[in-house]
Amino acid sequence: MSVTIISVRELSFQYNSAEVLAEVSFDVTPGDYIGLVGPNGSGKTTLIRILLGLLMPSAGTVSLFGRSSLDFREWYKVGYLSQRFMASYHHFPATVKEIVSMGLLSKKRFPKRMGSSDEMAIEKALECMDIVDIKDKLIHELSGGQQQRVFIARTIVNEPDLLILDEPTAAVDPETRERFFNLLENLNHQKRTTIILVTHDMGSIGKYASKMMYLDKRVIFYGTFEEFCRSTDMSSLFGSLSQHLICHRHE
Ligand code: ADP
Repeated sequence: MSVTIISVRELSFQYNSAEVLAEVSFDVTPGDYIGLVGPNGSGKTTLIRILLGLLMPSAGTVSLFGRSSLDFREWYKVGYLSQRFMASYHHFPATVKEIVSMGLLSKKRFPKRMGSSDEMAIEKALECMDIVDIKDKLIHELSGGQQQRVFIARTIVNEPDLLILDEPTAAVDPETRERFFNLLENLNHQKRTTIILVTHDMGSIGKYASKMMYLDKRVIFYGTFEEFCRSTDMSSLFGSLSQHLICHRHE
């Protein structure tokens, strides 16, 4: 029997006295690819921060890989990438290869020396992102799309079981975004990486993800796109035309 990757029960969260998340319950199973959507301020980032252990819930429980808190030696199982993280590294004086190798540090104890298996993992991540030929360039010399590929390589170099991405395509062109979506689809299909992708791009996510969570303080919808497509509640919320444009399950 496979372990549930994430299990959330009756979670709520408040900033001071403002309730941001209420009665949130859901499970994520291995191989899920979830598009997390919802209006601005609906609690998506807060939920991700709670999943990562950066915020404590006001009530309810969260477990990752069957445990209530992840031991630091297991952090490598989770890859996390956000727009804010990428922006903070824009002017970092490091080469592409150095940035990708930093992704391996969470798996290491002292001494943090690189061995031949690390070198192979780095090469594989560089190849996977098609950035081998720019591996010695400094990060700030690259275009936004190239930088994004470098940070994804850094995130996947550990081959995490769970990948959490918070709006990583907000600032890139449509072609790069399409390529990024295809890449995630490959990781999900070929490596069975479980993915949670926070996105504004509700119109496209149905082409790639297997499930959608629509959050607005509460979980308004969580299920497959086929279920979304058949849901009368979602027809009332979005209108049946938008509902079917979102689900991408019709010709
Ligand atoms: P989303 O990611 O869906 O846009 P957020 O989780 O960032 O939503 O924010 C949810 C709500 O919590 C918003 O009303 C936001 O203003 C508020 N909020 C976010 N961060 C803080 C904070 N550090 N202190 C107080 N309120 C916050």
